Amino acid sequence: MTAQVPGTTALITGATAGIGAEFARQLAEQGHHVVLVARDAERLRAAAHELENNYSITAEVLSADLTDDAGVAAVVERLSDPSRPVEILVNNAGTGLLKPFDQNSLDEERRHLRLHVQAPLELCHAALQGMLARGSGRIINVASVAAFANRGSYSAAKAWQVTFSRWANLAYAGNGVKVTAVCPGFTQTEFHDRMGMDKTVAPRWLWLHADRVVREGLADNERGRAVSIPTKRYKLVAAVSRALPARFTSGPPRRPVHEGSAGAGSAQ
Ligand code: NAP
Repeated sequence: MTAQVPGTTALITGATAGIGAEFARQLAEQGHHVVLVARDAERLRAAAHELENNYSITAEVLSADLTDDAGVAAVVERLSDPSRPVEILVNNAGTGLLKPFDQNSLDEERRHLRLHVQAPLELCHAALQGMLARGSGRIINVASVAAFANRGSYSAAKAWQVTFSRWANLAYAGNGVKVTAVCPGFTQTEFHDRMGMDKTVAPRWLWLHADRVVREGLADNERGRAVSIPTKRYKLVAAVSRALPARFTSGPPRRPVHEGSAGAGSAQ
């Protein structure tokens, strides 16, 4: 696959692990400079160092917690700097909640919503100003195949990303801006371990590798597609999920590691 314009800058949130780290690596491999965003400053510096060593690009780091106002404001400021334009925005940072909605504290649910919906909304708004003025840009929102199911507030948040991306891709295509929601299924990253989720609830054949998710996501975004669902098996899962009554798409159940009891949370 060829890069859009090598030498332009991509900002990736959640860029130190999993899918975000792979977006950073593939974009750097294509020749894009990168701005890496996450909370852990030491890990950010290590990731930047590795990318600069492996590819002929520069890697900036921006330590920010996207569940708080100051963190989002710092990234908005970087995206709004006309002297250092960002041509590609990847809204990827995300975490899951193990328990069902009613058993999480309101604060946990608010931070979850903030990270998956409000932060991407604010970053898209900031990035679009420069992209529309320049007449070019690319935005990728990492959603989930859970957006097509009915799995708690995680599905609801990811459905927002899909609906928004579909609309924005149509609205801004004429201005040279492509917007894509990437919708992976279960992917081998730190996501489920951070939640303390027992990963055996999903059979092995369902697990994807981040390199494929990202490769297909970048290619679909370059083609101007609003939604990217990596692999045929997950395209089928998404199609079936959309067709089935809601009660059939609220599982499989999630349970914590080392416990046999089923939870009824959401993430994928
Ligand atoms: P991951 O391996 O756990 O990586 C998460 C990244 O986000 C890390 O770089 C983390 O770094 C950063 N992050 C977490 N909370 C943050 C915060 N409050 N502010 C800023 N950065 C934060 O997760 P992943 O699986 O790659 O997930 C990436 C995206 O894919 C998420 O949006 C997730 O919902 C989606 N997704 C994942 C799967 C899956 O099965 N893995 C499936 C579908 C969709 P710090 O901890 O240092 O901040």
